[in-house]
Amino acid sequence: MTVARFAPCPHCGAPLSYLEGASGSTLTPKCPRCQAGVTVPRATLLMADHSRPSDRATSVDVKLRS
Ligand SMILES: [Zn+2]
Repeated sequence: MTVARFAPCPHCGAPLSYLEGASGSTLTPKCPRCQAGVTVPRATLLMADHSRPSDRATSVDVKLRS
């Protein structure tokens, strides 16, 4: 069974998904952004969390005809 938690990287603060029990899980996962090792209590797969908007969200220009 896979348990997902969402927390920032303790090193660089990037939003991460902690997938416990996912295939590829390890007890010494590395942050996908800063490549620093993250200490986890159980085998975990780290993935960048793209489900939340970043602080640099792209803006979309909408042109209206007047
Ligand atoms: Zn990091």
